[in-house]
Amino acid sequence: MLQRRNSKQRLIIREFLKDRYDHPTADKLFNEIKEEHPNFSLGTVYRNLLFLTQIGEIQALDVGDGSTHFDPNPLPHAHFFCKECKCVTDVKMDNYDEICKLASTNIKGQIQRCSVYLEGICQHCLKINKNSSNKKE
Ligand SMILES: [Zn+2]
Ligand SMILES: [Zn+2]
Repeated sequence: MLQRRNSKQRLIIREFLKDRYDHPTADKLFNEIKEEHPNFSLGTVYRNLLFLTQIGEIQALDVGDGSTHFDPNPLPHAHFFCKECKCVTDVKMDNYDEICKLASTNIKGQIQRCSVYLEGICQHCLKINKNSSNKKE
């Protein structure tokens, strides 16, 4: 019975994360889910996200903003984090695998995972900054 309820909740969480590129945090997902499913708790959302991460269906990202972001795409890819609006976006890199090869010459052990996090200011925020500094002049 408990198992069944858990898997139903997991299905709902999966559904909310599916096809997204905005890398939401557990809090953000929880706020969206509870609109439709008021019986959900943040703990339930978090536990299920961790479970899906552990089985390799999704990936958890730590971009350095203190919150874990979740990505429905479990394949390795680079991420860009905007310090202003805290958005996390995918960075398309054709030769992502080359990073591991570059590093492997200096690592005697075995590389198992390669995570690339880039930090800066996104296009959208750059535009806002530019507009507000123009106004000041
Ligand atoms: Zn931004
Ligand atoms: Zn991603």
